[in-house]
Amino acid sequence: MIVVDQFRYDYLTRFQQLFAPGGFKRLMRDGAHWTNAHYPYIPTKTAPGHTAIMTGAPPSVSGIAGNEWIERETGRKVTSVGDSTAKLLGGGPREVANSPRRLLASTVGDELRRATNSRSKVIGISDKPRAAILPVGRQANAAYWLSGSSGNVISSDYYFPQLPDWVQEFNRTQPLDKYFGARWDRILPEAAYLKHAGVDSPPWENDKAPGETNAFPHWVTGGATKPSNAFYDALDHSPFINEILVSFAEQAIEKEQLGEDEVTDLLSVSLSGNDHVGHRFGPYSQEVMDIALRVDRQIAVLLDFVDARVGLKNTLVVFSSDHGVSPNLDQSAAKGVSPTRIQNSDVLKAIRLAINGVRAGSADYIFKYKEGSATRDAVANGNVYFDLEALKRDGVSLDEITRIAGEAALKVPGIVRYFTRSQIERCRLACPRCEIDNPASTYNKRTSNSKVSQKGMSVLPCRGLRDGVGSRVLRGYDPERSGDLIVVQQPFSSIGDSFDPANHGSPYSYDTHVPVILMGQGLKRGHYRQPATPLDIAPTVTTILGIATPNKSQGRTLREALRTRPSR
Ligand SMILES: [Zn+2]
Repeated sequence: MIVVDQFRYDYLTRFQQLFAPGGFKRLMRDGAHWTNAHYPYIPTKTAPGHTAIMTGAPPSVSGIAGNEWIERETGRKVTSVGDSTAKLLGGGPREVANSPRRLLASTVGDELRRATNSRSKVIGISDKPRAAILPVGRQANAAYWLSGSSGNVISSDYYFPQLPDWVQEFNRTQPLDKYFGARWDRILPEAAYLKHAGVDSPPWENDKAPGETNAFPHWVTGGATKPSNAFYDALDHSPFINEILVSFAEQAIEKEQLGEDEVTDLLSVSLSGNDHVGHRFGPYSQEVMDIALRVDRQIAVLLDFVDARVGLKNTLVVFSSDHGVSPNLDQSAAKGVSPTRIQNSDVLKAIRLAINGVRAGSADYIFKYKEGSATRDAVANGNVYFDLEALKRDGVSLDEITRIAGEAALKVPGIVRYFTRSQIERCRLACPRCEIDNPASTYNKRTSNSKVSQKGMSVLPCRGLRDGVGSRVLRGYDPERSGDLIVVQQPFSSIGDSFDPANHGSPYSYDTHVPVILMGQGLKRGHYRQPATPLDIAPTVTTILGIATPNKSQGRTLREALRTRPSR
């Protein structure tokens, strides 16, 4: 499986003529290609996306409610893969260890391992720990990611007591450090970029990364004189990080002998450079265009390698992305769209004012979490967490307080919708299948005659949750890990504490629409315009493999592309 982190569907069409023969062109020509695949939940972020592809499960059941969320039991902000009980192997002094402990759904890899009495090898690779760990799941043999502090390929003792010899050997080649001072220039003549992306370094590119300009060529140093954390960060923001991941993936195939016997193995490679560059420059920049063209060629190299060693005819290739991205906010502003950067603090201020208005002098009902010695208001991914104990103590209804808070949040410029815990829970109670078969959802028209709507089951409790935005909130909602009030911004706007030039996480098409391509035996190649979601990948792959469906999958098997009898 190949995931490009932050790769919008329209990159495939915008840059189609410029791709190399062996990369995306091959996937689009020889694969089954869904042109209308959207994520059906929010937040459209890295951890939920990588989870969804290989579990078929949205955050509401996978437990991966975001890249991070507030953990009420411990009163801390946690990441999807952070694990204080695990030990890091090969990392730097201040790096935290990671594991799939918070993932609550089985993956394709888990089912493959179960089906083969653990004879299948399942390995995940990425720059980011969450993108390496989550797609392969809890039974994986290994997940590897890159350290932004030691410059090594690293892992954790969740998988093994020490890094395998071949990985240590790879690290001895200084896989990251050898790119110090590398020059990143356009891969094609500038005319192609002027045509498809516009001028280099336009006024809205104003990111002030150390040692960086916004113009080609970029020199990868991070403003440092030798490899350092700033350099590793600069390397993350370049196409070279993907090159490192591809060469490590080739090593994994070779040294772990993936695909060499009759038992199916699974390799998951997530290429992260595109996400970092996309955040910094935005989807219409020359930099994003260049890294899209380069990742195409890097994927071609990987596919050729697999073809030479294992044979693509013996391989099932999955290609997708974890989310899209909004236009660069300042570029939108320059084009008259007027996006808003909505500060969490402004939302909280409006909420506090409103609560104080109806319950003067009452306690501050916003939940607090600890970060080091600081105490912070619990807000993450547009979710506001309330102090449920304080509300109970004072006999205040959560339903009422979140509605007051939601109405107040609506007055903050840029906020257009709000959803409350009670509203979501009432809907789930009345209509347990709403989350799965949502007749009104924009992606899932096939269920429009489902029993749910025919019987006219109590639709009222689901009011506001049955459109494209509401249904995405419902599927993204984990009762333990999500907040009590969810606010949603208008298109092209962003909500948070700080902002990259371009962002993702919203329910809008620029964040939800991604490529879904499956290539290999058992599949009929072609372009499929049927609605689909990346959640459909997992059950389709397990159907082709003839193994159990991941245990919390809500995807559909993409039958339109399956051969009736898989050729073996
Ligand atoms: Zn991102």
